[in-house]
Amino acid sequence: MNDWSRRIREGDARALARAATGIENGDPEALALLGELAPFTCHARIVGITGAPGAGKSTLVDALASALRREGKTLAILAVDPTSSLTGGAILGDRIRMQRHYADAAVFIRSMATRGSLGGLARATAGVVALMDAAGKDYVIIETVGVGQAEIAIAGLAQVTVVVLVPGMGDDVQALKAGILEIADVFAINKSDQPGADRVERELQAMMGLGDGRKPPIVKTVATDGKGIGELLDCVRAVPGRRQAKGAAAGSPDQATGLAAAGRETHPTHSHSGERKVKAEIGIIGGSGLYTMPGFEAAEEVLMQTPFGDPSDNFVLGTLAGRQVAFLSRHGRGHRISPSELNFRANIYGMKSLGVERIISLSAVGSLKEEHRPQDFVIPDQFFDRTRGRVSTFFGEGLVAHISFADPICPQMAGVVAGACATAGVNAKKGGTYLCMEGPAFSTKAESNVYRSWGMDVIGMTNLQEAKLAREAEICYVTVAMVTDYDCWHPQHDAVTVADIIANLVQNAAHACAVVAAAVAAMPAERTCQCGAALSHAILTDRATVPQTTRQKLGILIDKYFV
Ligand SMILES: [Zn+2]
Repeated sequence: MNDWSRRIREGDARALARAATGIENGDPEALALLGELAPFTCHARIVGITGAPGAGKSTLVDALASALRREGKTLAILAVDPTSSLTGGAILGDRIRMQRHYADAAVFIRSMATRGSLGGLARATAGVVALMDAAGKDYVIIETVGVGQAEIAIAGLAQVTVVVLVPGMGDDVQALKAGILEIADVFAINKSDQPGADRVERELQAMMGLGDGRKPPIVKTVATDGKGIGELLDCVRAVPGRRQAKGAAAGSPDQATGLAAAGRETHPTHSHSGERKVKAEIGIIGGSGLYTMPGFEAAEEVLMQTPFGDPSDNFVLGTLAGRQVAFLSRHGRGHRISPSELNFRANIYGMKSLGVERIISLSAVGSLKEEHRPQDFVIPDQFFDRTRGRVSTFFGEGLVAHISFADPICPQMAGVVAGACATAGVNAKKGGTYLCMEGPAFSTKAESNVYRSWGMDVIGMTNLQEAKLAREAEICYVTVAMVTDYDCWHPQHDAVTVADIIANLVQNAAHACAVVAAAVAAMPAERTCQCGAALSHAILTDRATVPQTTRQKLGILIDKYFV
């Protein structure tokens, strides 16, 4: 780890400020730094504060900051103004109110404005949020002004969004864009000592009564004297975030509300799958370093719950080469989930829920052949299963389906990705067999030599289940196997240094970004393969006997075969 990232991990304010500026300017060195820091993210509570101008958001944020500091928490405040193109400086008006925190090293304050496209601002904000997270801030508060689409995109970065209203807006509550009401996890009626606060509350409740049944809490605050701030903090903490949602959410007494509130997205209603809004067409599963790849403009982060449990992490949605894509960190940010622990079904079902029709999967592998050298990419066309007892199907529980899996990789995508490797100047080979082992320990030499005698090409721990489930979900799937080293059969295996392996990982990560970008750009709109009809002859069970619970659980995977 270099000196810069070390200082950031230690919370050095000057190093942080320099990095934030670099991220805003798209400086490659700062973006590389983000990649290096990615494993240290996912600890901060990320809170969005938004609402119309004049609602007193800044004062509210100031009061929240003071309350958090009294608890000994550290925080960053990012004041984002999409309407301002000023660079730096006081852009949100009354920065003076922040002055009492300026001397406090535990509070990092930054104003951010557009320096180009709004998508660029959203991406820069995402980068700075990740930076503050990696720096160990307990809370990151993103304050946005206004209620437009850009603010909603930026609010999508937050785990919890507080929408601030004030009395006197009156009918404005009705006029508020539906979007901002949808994204609210908590409503704060600020300046609630002024006449009309009760009316705002009644109107909010009336609007919620007309909605989808979600009822975010309403807290009345007077930020100038701290009234209601404690209660607001309690509400903010009660919303399940990324980490809290894992495992904990399932047992939450307020599950439906909490999930919808935290992620703004549960799995789509089964009965309405035909009307599902496509939020991404291409899914990318790999390391979290991909989130910061050049050209990717993050717009939204979606916490998803599926009938099969929680995916590895939030889905990060945005645009790449003009296409809607969804990234998923396979092992979770911070690399928390081992291959044997992965919930492959939730990951693939989540992609399906977003509307994804194609998945590009990046996987670090060991080489089983001399010809596949470190830093080469292999695009396998076959798998060999050496895993044990992993759940590899959505089916069962009264519904039997046998998909064809003779050719597990989508031929159309394999061609596109091979072309992308050529475009990106990456040495790649099309075809070969990916042996999927259980792990987490690597092979013995005896195993490695047996695999070689079988003619296997590369060895990894994750892609087989993904490929099977993607096929069952009628999603095209292609593996990009990135060779990090020779497996232990190789005479030079033991001579490889950690530095060599890191050099290979870094080079592979850079190549992965280039290949993904080129592949997404080159992906034809239409699928010419058979992947989209994988289930058309696969379901054997008499439709009439399929239990309703199974039918419901499989939902969007099988709806079209049950009309
Ligand atoms: Zn296909």
